[in-house]
Amino acid sequence: MTVLEQGQITIHTENIFPIIKKSLYTDHEIFLRELVSNAVDAIQKLKMVSYSGEVDGDVGEPEITISLDKNNQTLSVSDNGIGMTAEEVKKYINQVAFSSAEEFIQKYQKDADQQIIGHFGLGFYSCFMVAKNVEIDTLSYQAGAEAVHWSCDGSPQFELSESSRKERGTTITLTLQDEETEYVEPARIRQLVKKYCDFMPVPIKLDGEELNQHKALWKQSPRDLKDEDYLEFYRYLYPFQEDPLLWVHLKTDYPFLLNGILYFPKLKPDVDVTKGHIKLFCNQVFVSDNCEEVIPNFLMPLRGVIDSPDIPINVSRSALTNDRTVRRIADFIAKKIADRLNQLYTEQRQDYIRCWQDVGTFVKFGALNNDKFKKQVEDIILYRTTYSADSASKPKTPEVEVQSQEDDAWQEVSSGEVNQDEQGRTYTTLKEYLDRNKAKHENHVFYCTDEAAQATYVELHKNQGLEVLYMDSFIDTHFISFLEQEYSDVKFSRVDSELDNTLVDQDKAADIVDPKTNKTRSELVKELFEQAINKSKVNVKTQALKSDDPQGTPPAMVLLPEAMRRLQDMTALLQ
Ligand code: ADP
Ligand code: MG
Repeated sequence: MTVLEQGQITIHTENIFPIIKKSLYTDHEIFLRELVSNAVDAIQKLKMVSYSGEVDGDVGEPEITISLDKNNQTLSVSDNGIGMTAEEVKKYINQVAFSSAEEFIQKYQKDADQQIIGHFGLGFYSCFMVAKNVEIDTLSYQAGAEAVHWSCDGSPQFELSESSRKERGTTITLTLQDEETEYVEPARIRQLVKKYCDFMPVPIKLDGEELNQHKALWKQSPRDLKDEDYLEFYRYLYPFQEDPLLWVHLKTDYPFLLNGILYFPKLKPDVDVTKGHIKLFCNQVFVSDNCEEVIPNFLMPLRGVIDSPDIPINVSRSALTNDRTVRRIADFIAKKIADRLNQLYTEQRQDYIRCWQDVGTFVKFGALNNDKFKKQVEDIILYRTTYSADSASKPKTPEVEVQSQEDDAWQEVSSGEVNQDEQGRTYTTLKEYLDRNKAKHENHVFYCTDEAAQATYVELHKNQGLEVLYMDSFIDTHFISFLEQEYSDVKFSRVDSELDNTLVDQDKAADIVDPKTNKTRSELVKELFEQAINKSKVNVKTQALKSDDPQGTPPAMVLLPEAMRRLQDMTALLQ
């Protein structure tokens, strides 16, 4: 194939300019964020330059000032940063999508401490979404630089002239479009600064009043922070909410840059766990109120902030979800959360148990949703249990107690560590449960989904020496089916699910026919009982479990499968 021509594609400014102005961002209000972040960059750059000894004299206190003029419908943002020379205005302002950030960082890399927000060289033009005219008045820090004035009415025509400006820095003045005059209202500006610029590292003033916090706790080193600092920050972010249970301070600079603090809130039944509450920042600039695309689904109920310049924020949501860095960030966050929980589990067990009620929901949700996370937490998932060191393993008042010298199934099993909360309730891991109950009900888990409604059944189990787990939180319904899949060799029985097979009253037993013997279950049990009783070595004691009428005949309640198993074992032994 013959190449006819090679060349560069050109853009016709008249046509593309309106598109950039109108469609670059959906929200007009973000123009303020862009102007203020340019001002912050200018101040950070000045710091970097002054560190390398290029600035004569003192750089002064950094400051950004917003001024509003209702009469003239103007808004201006001033900074005492690095300023621009006429050359720089031509280069960085007149060329759309040309940022100075990269060149600058390359030159002053040695001080990586100061972060530059700018990147794409598009932010400045967002002010044309709200302005009919934009002016720049600027004086560069460079020795001998002359102040310049630039203005543009939104057409691709600009005008550059001399300026009488004496102070180093830049003022951007917007003359607002008639339909955008809300931006001369101080209340509106205060609200926007709070929203987008609260944690920017430079004071932002309006009428002499400082509007922002300018302290981003997540940027600080965890070593310098106390619990109270984290709590205070949480209360600031989420006023009138209960204090969080625990938090994780995230910090990494490889393979991506990320800082953040994530909190586990106390869960309320009315909290929508599918809605994101984590605030996303990019170099301390607020980006969005949730980062549903960035953080793993199952961590959605967490709160706090994530700050990463490596999250592409100017792309569509679906592009974000498919972004490799974003996926890695999600994995990183999940791993850090798991690490923190494991650390708490090993080092501060009491605290871990204290917040398990709430944290457990996240953890289970995570294990359900994410295989990697599941592996990281499966050994620290706790279940509230009827087990307690002094009473559980021994049957309390068994209605059927079968003893023989050879049968050691009733012997106490050593308990291991007992995890108790402040109310004296006991918790166990699944592994501990299975180990502890190997002899009595190997690979068989009994659970209760409603403590009040199933209390009788729980008692029944307890009295037979069977340990029951409480699986009664709102996530447990899903979690049980998950466990059934995960542990296919373990049988999970709800305490009342054996009800159909339970011999409530021997005479009125629900008679299920055993296909092998063609006898009903109750007949079988009777037979087994009789067989057992006829053997002299065996001592069968029947005793009432519970009776509403202490004088009357107590109903004999036997969990049929369990009774059958034990009796079968017994008869086998005696053959
Ligand atoms: P970005 O911030 O991504 O670099 P912008 O379109 O926001 O892109 O700004 C383009 C360039 O204009 C910046 O890289 C910077 O060189 C220059 N600039 C904008 N605002 C200021 C300012 N207040 N002080 C100094 N330079 C500025
Ligand atoms: Mg910018």
